[in-house]
Amino acid sequence: MSDLDSPPAEAAPDGVPDGATPMMQQYLALKARHPGYLLFFRMGDFFEMFFDDAVAASQALDIALTKRGKHLGEDIAMCGVPVHQAEAYLHRLTGQGFRVAVCDQLEDPAEAKKRGGAKAVVRRDVVRLVTAGTLTEDALLDGRAHNFLAALADAAGALALAWADISTGAVAVQPVAEADLAAALARIEPSEILLPERLLQRPDLFEALGERKAALTPQPDARFSSANAARLLQQTYAVGTMDAFGGFGRAETAALGALVDYLLLTQKGALPALRPPVRMAAGDVVQIDAATRANLELVRTLGGGRKGALLDAVDRTCTHAGGRLLAARLAAPATDPAAIARRLDAVGHFVAAEELRRDVRAALRAAPDLERALARLSLGRGGPRDLAAIRDGLAAAAGVAALVDRAAGLGLPDETAAACGRLTGHDVLVDRLARALKDELPALPRDGDFVAAGYAPELDALRTLRDRSRKLILELEGRYRKDSGVASLKIRHNNVLGYYIEVTATHGETLRNHRSDEGTAAFVHRQTMANAVRFTTTELAELERRIAEAADKALALELALFADLAGEATGRAAEIGATAEALAAIDVAAGLAELAATQRYCRPTVDASDRFAIAGGRHPVVELALSRAGDSGFVPNGCTLEGTAADGGRLWLVTGPNMAGKSTFLRQNALIAILAQAGSWVPADSAHIGAVDRVFSRVGAADDLARGRSTFMVEMVETAAILNQATTRSLVILDEIGRGTATFDGLSIAWACLEDLHDRVRCRGLFATHFHELTRLAERLDGLSCHSMRVREWQGQVVFLHEVAPGAADRSYGVHVARLAGLPPAVVARAEQILALLEQHQARGGGAGALAPDLPLFQAALSAAPPPPPAPQADPQAQALLDAVRALDPDAMTPRQALEALYALRGTAGPAD
Ligand code: ATP
Repeated sequence: MSDLDSPPAEAAPDGVPDGATPMMQQYLALKARHPGYLLFFRMGDFFEMFFDDAVAASQALDIALTKRGKHLGEDIAMCGVPVHQAEAYLHRLTGQGFRVAVCDQLEDPAEAKKRGGAKAVVRRDVVRLVTAGTLTEDALLDGRAHNFLAALADAAGALALAWADISTGAVAVQPVAEADLAAALARIEPSEILLPERLLQRPDLFEALGERKAALTPQPDARFSSANAARLLQQTYAVGTMDAFGGFGRAETAALGALVDYLLLTQKGALPALRPPVRMAAGDVVQIDAATRANLELVRTLGGGRKGALLDAVDRTCTHAGGRLLAARLAAPATDPAAIARRLDAVGHFVAAEELRRDVRAALRAAPDLERALARLSLGRGGPRDLAAIRDGLAAAAGVAALVDRAAGLGLPDETAAACGRLTGHDVLVDRLARALKDELPALPRDGDFVAAGYAPELDALRTLRDRSRKLILELEGRYRKDSGVASLKIRHNNVLGYYIEVTATHGETLRNHRSDEGTAAFVHRQTMANAVRFTTTELAELERRIAEAADKALALELALFADLAGEATGRAAEIGATAEALAAIDVAAGLAELAATQRYCRPTVDASDRFAIAGGRHPVVELALSRAGDSGFVPNGCTLEGTAADGGRLWLVTGPNMAGKSTFLRQNALIAILAQAGSWVPADSAHIGAVDRVFSRVGAADDLARGRSTFMVEMVETAAILNQATTRSLVILDEIGRGTATFDGLSIAWACLEDLHDRVRCRGLFATHFHELTRLAERLDGLSCHSMRVREWQGQVVFLHEVAPGAADRSYGVHVARLAGLPPAVVARAEQILALLEQHQARGGGAGALAPDLPLFQAALSAAPPPPPAPQADPQAQALLDAVRALDPDAMTPRQALEALYALRGTAGPAD
């Protein structure tokens, strides 16, 4: 009978119905203490879930739902997952928004029996709350991405956002205006957001949380008290006052305090090694809202994948921590030209020193994830492999420092010098770990056998004893065979009986009747099987006791040594954290240098001017995709957004056919600015960028049916955000805005937006449009200049040159693109006919403004019975050329006649364009 089926206990704990079995009472009491959590209830080798939890989890995990026992007369629904696979299931549950309370057995069933008799319930308690924002296991995390827990707090009329990644120890905080909240969350991408319940009452704020509502974990208001928070933070960081980290406002303190409080709650009192909070001010990083991030596909593509996004195209880092740092820099490019220059110089150093770059990158590849190993150790969740990761990571760091130092030559750039200074100083710890750990390591400390021979003499002695005892068992086996005369006698071991003597059934009697020298039965019977009989002896039992004792002592000693080593590592958490950060910074610089060198990137100049001058710019992702497809023909294009149209023009209006490369051109300029300010070199021949404070990118007519808004509504909401938030220093990219409504409405809106950006906002920007009428605005707006994508027409076909040239496009070639896309020939022909009609109409003076009254003409043309599609017409010029070629008889011609004929053909083909 399992403890689930035991008879009801006499007195049930508070809130738990009478009549429940003792174990069910234990379960229900724990469940009641953790509302909102699925309870993973440890029973032997399984985590079981019961009642509604079982129903929800079986659906979410697609595992069998069974029944087990009854509660208050009803069947108890149950499902379970094996303990050794729990991580994989936790990953899936947290990914689907579940929170899980993990309840473990605090003693083994044998201890429980010893304590309270056969019916005793094993002591259990919740040891950890697993939520999306508080994960530390590699299996639950993406190695190259941060996993942030954020807290939003308000105090004294101000809002602040704090965020921490407990798997790396990173902590940061910033004051945030309500209008900027959505953009800040889009940058941080927290997987869980804490906020006081009272803030849920503010509809405006709730709306600003946008699509992140699923990640919200509301907390009682009391957990956001700034006074409690200050005390908690001082304890956590062991400082007398929070001023040690710079002056935090009350809201910032409350947000940080709520984070730490929640970590204590979910980790059941254990705190990871948190680094001091980094304070970010509003203008420190380029503001990029969620729509712009999605549009520019910075970290992931519109489809949600990593492949094809900017980060994937430029990430050449060798370590997970380097990958995370690069992602963070791209997500939050800097605005301070001096800070940017330091990063660019560090990249430059590795661009110039090719050999150093190669060696450093090779050393980095051997560096495990120091931050995550340290975090697990500090939470008491680490294992011998985490100690090995610390050893190898710190050793790699020292190796990198030596390489960089040796190649320093004329000196190091500031960022590299600063990083190098933090890579060393761990020799004692590395040496100790190197001596202490074996080569092959188990995952968990309690698996034992991970401490190397020679490290602890006492352990070596216990192991010798254990091994000697094993040898003694072999000797005993030989002696018993001789004494009993049963040559097939064996001493075996299993988990139930321990060591035992086994003979086949035919020899059972021989052993039973065997007498020792003192005349007593030498072999004590233990078990009779179908084909074998099992015995023991006092000698064997004594030997077994010694072996078990030695093994227990050895394991206890190993666990103590593990705790000691882990303590030494976590005692140096701050220094190891600093080394990990420095190693990541070097990885990013060397990785970006590798990118720059192999992809022909240049060092941009970023300063406080209002320039934007890119020569020979390329789109980092499209270029890579083309070259991977074997097409190296990405056409570079320059872009100068400054001054009046004569200087280049602050705003560019780009026209040209579909598929000609407008969107690529627009985005490449935004990406170049973001890369440059993130500290990367850029895909261009040269780039001079006056630091941008915000980047906006919008594509007209983007679908957003998921959010239940009409396409055009989305377009206008986003456009409104730009006009309200853009400043003189912003870079605005508008791709075919105004397309989602009727032509005149769309044109008018696009027109008014362009005027506003030019006259009032005065930002730098690129504007792609099919409204050719807009090009007339350039006559009036002196900062607006017109550009177009060059195309060539050849035998009725359009060839895209992907070149940006001054001036407006004369037409859209939409019908040509429709033909390319495979629209039925009859439809294409009809479209050409209608287009010709409309163009004639416009040529007669019916411009955009005058088109409306003439619309009946348009409708008449459509409603009139459609004439049969015109027969495909031969091009007379091509026909003449073909006839002339056919008339030639090359065999009968002299070279001179052939040349003359060629000239004649050239004449027939008409003038070159
Ligand atoms: P639409 O108006 O239909 O959105 P578009 O003018 O914005 O079209 P893009 O989507 O930018 O065109 O580009 C279409 C394709 O042309 C790209 O996928 C790419 O393969 C190619 N292309 C764009 N720019 C270049 C370039 N500079 N060099 C080479 N190929 C390019």
